[in-house]
Formats: sequence, C-alpha cells, structure tokens
Amino acid sequence: MIRTADYLIIGGGVVGLTTALALKRRHSDASVVVIEKESACGRHASGRNSGVLHAGFYYTANSLKARFTRDGNRRMTAYCLERGLGINRCGKLVVAADKSELATLDLLKQRGEANGIELEEISETEAREREPRVRTFQKALYSPSTASVDPVEVMTALEEDARAAGVVIRKGVRCYGRGSDGSVKSDAGDLTPGYVINAAGLQADRIARTFDFCRDYRILPFKGLYLYEESPQPVRMHLYPVPDLRNPFLGVHYTVTVDGRTKLGPTAIPCFWREQYGGASGFEMREFLEMAWRQAGLLLFSSFAFKRLALEESRKYSRSTMARMAGRLATGSDPGQCRVWAKPGIRAQLVETAHRTLVSDFILEGDGRSLHVLNAVSPAFTCSLPFADHIVDEVERHTG
Ligand SMILES: Cc1cc2nc3c(=O)[nH]c(=O)nc-3n(C[C@H](O)[C@H](O)[C@H](O)COP(=O)(O)OP(=O)(O)OC[C@H]3O[C@@H](n4cnc5c(N)ncnc54)[C@H](O)[C@@H]3O)c2cc1C
Repeated sequence: MIRTADYLIIGGGVVGLTTALALKRRHSDASVVVIEKESACGRHASGRNSGVLHAGFYYTANSLKARFTRDGNRRMTAYCLERGLGINRCGKLVVAADKSELATLDLLKQRGEANGIELEEISETEAREREPRVRTFQKALYSPSTASVDPVEVMTALEEDARAAGVVIRKGVRCYGRGSDGSVKSDAGDLTPGYVINAAGLQADRIARTFDFCRDYRILPFKGLYLYEESPQPVRMHLYPVPDLRNPFLGVHYTVTVDGRTKLGPTAIPCFWREQYGGASGFEMREFLEMAWRQAGLLLFSSFAFKRLALEESRKYSRSTMARMAGRLATGSDPGQCRVWAKPGIRAQLVETAHRTLVSDFILEGDGRSLHVLNAVSPAFTCSLPFADHIVDEVERHTG
C-alpha cells in the first residue's frame, strides 16, 4: 500500500498530521500515507513547544502567519473543547520595560486591529489587577484569546483522528528524498506515490533539495530551553516582553502551562546540528561543519544582528541569567525557585542564503509532483488547522 499511495506525507509532526486530515476531508477515497522516522509522532517541535495558542498580533496583515494564527487559534481552541482536551484560556499580557518600548507596543496593537484580533490596551494599574506580579511601564497589551494546550495530548488526538479517517501512519520509516530514478527513497524501500508533501520540519530543506527545491534557503536550528519556576505565587497568565521585531523570536517570557505551572523561556540559541537536544545526541560531522561554516558567515556578514543574538542567547544557558531576565517582566522572580529545566525544543528556522536574513513567514515550494513546507516555525502549531487547508489548496493548484 505504501508504494502506491495517492499522497505521501513525510513527517508526523503537527503539519504532517493536520495535512493528512485535510486531504482526507477533501478526497475521502484517496490513500494518504504518513511516514515518520521516529517511533512516535510529535517527537520534535510539535511535542516540544510552549503549547501556547497565539492570537496573531505580531505579524503584518499581509503574511500567512497573521491569517493562520488568528483562524488557527479559534479552530484549535474549538478542537480542544470538542475533543475534551486540556486548554487553559489564561490570556496574555505584553509588557513594556521603559518608554522606548511604547511605540512597538502601539505597533502591535495596530497589527492586532488590522488582523481582526481582540486586544486591549490597559494601564499599568489594570495590568496589575489582572496579574499582581506584572511589571510594566505605563501600559500593557492584554490578549484574552491567547491560551495554553498540552501539545503532546493534541498530537495524540490528531493521530487518533487521522487513523480513524483512514490515514496510514508508518512510524520508524525514514525518507532519504528523491532518487535519480524519480522514486522516493526510504527505509520501507523505493516509493512511487502520486504526490509527495514534505513536512519534515528540521530536515525539510535537505529533503526538498533532492527534489530541486529550497535552492535559496537553508535551515539554521535554534534551541529553545525552558526553566520551570516553582513560586508560591505562580503567575496567572502569559507575560511577554515587547519583542525585537527585527528577528522572529519573542524573547524570554513567562508561559503558564495547561495545568497552571510556570515556565520561563524559551531561548533561541543557535545549534551546531539540527537535532542537538543535549550532549552528542543526533551529532553528524558533516552537518556540524556545514552549520559552523554558515554561522561564521552570519557572524561576519549577516544583515541582522546575528552576533548580538548569538552572544545574548548563549548567556541563557545560565539559570540565574534566565531568572534575572524574567525578573524584568514580573516581581518576585527568584533564581532559587528556578532549578529544573524542562524538555527543550529546536526551531527549524530558515535563512535566506543570498542576503543572510532570517525568514519570517511560512514558505511553500512545489510543482505537479511534490510540495515542500519550509520554515514551519512558531506559531505553526497554532496555525496548523487552517495552514493544512492552505497546503491542500496549493497541492490542488499545482495538480490542476
Ligand atoms: C521551542 C519552541 C517553542 C514553540 N512554541 C510554540 C508555541 O507556543 N505555539 C505555537 O503555535 N508554536 C510553537 N512552536 C512552533 C511549533 O512547535 C512548530 O512550528 C511546529 O510544531 C512545526 O511542526 P512540523 O510538523 O512542521 O515539524 P515537527 O514537529 O518537527 O515534525 C516534523 C516531523 O518530521 C519527521 N521527519 C524529519 N525528517 C524525516 C525523514 N527524513 N523521514 C521521515 N520523517 C522525518 C520528524 O521526526 C518530525 O516528527 C515552538 C517551537 C519551538 C521549537
């Protein structure tokens, strides 16, 4: 069956599974097969993220992220409620450190309005009524629709739904890309599916290149570390700083998990290989040399402040530095209460090689035989349900 599937999806992350479901909704008779190299789905970003359902006010209205975050937040919230999955509709505050950040706070509010997102500008006093520990300068933005889910629970539910819809999920099968004979090389042999969708996350650029796509980009992985805060007065809602909009990361923040625990993070530390979760796991010499070379180029020539980002982020390997940074957002932050690291995640961030810039939006490249999902970075978990419909639209556009 796997050799002759109508649609072959590479990667059992949230993008792969929601795309499989969207394909089955539109083409119920088609055979859809997902191959996943790990022994379970969701072992990478989809099961290792903050679990935040973002609202969608960081992105400019013309971006895919703006539309899919807004719609994805609503659809994922509804999905969790219908499926009886955990969801903590705690809301979020974006806080300003000082006067210099107020203009960006205003810009985020304008972006939220342009994207049709509910967002309130509130005073410092009102912010403190909502979250007694918050620190902000003069005002803050309150987002009521930002929520938390358990990403592993959501992935389990999506996998069950995909199987119930007739999707075949083959775990422990690694894809090696397209071979010179045109077949797809895998641990399960040479496959000749009708159409291929590459949703391989951190490995998506490698696979895309075997299909002659992803010529202008490379993945540069960034590690997100989290630290639990065990405070007698846990924060009630997510607290985020005003971001530096020149890069796609949101800065160290407080996340409230679905069960009310507090996590600080995540960091955005450049990695030297794609699956560098800890120690030497996932190490490949060729990849290490390639990443070191790429990072050297970025240090010397990048058009964004890679050197500053890399230095600043690497300092966050220290628990006390992370706790001190979080202390800018909330009172009562104490390094002594931040002892336990949570499971890290790695972002599959795309770099545009000609200009050495980080790509912000999702990128899809394809033709009549295959489609490649590139740069499915945060908040692709939130976006996944409408993003999957868009992926299927693109497949249909290419296949006529
Ligand atoms: C630290 C961190 C925090 C984040 N926080 C949030 C958040 O709060 N909210 C939000 O909306 N988003 C968040 N994100 C983003 C979100 O997690 C990702 O955008 C999303 O999970 C990407 O899904 P994916 O399916 O593309 O990738 P993945 O989950 O990485 O899935 C890709 C799958 O492909 C498989 N694969 C790879 N290569 C092969 C191969 N050769 N053959 C077969 N299978 C292969 C992998 O094993 C993997 O299971 C965060 C991400 C990180 C890293």
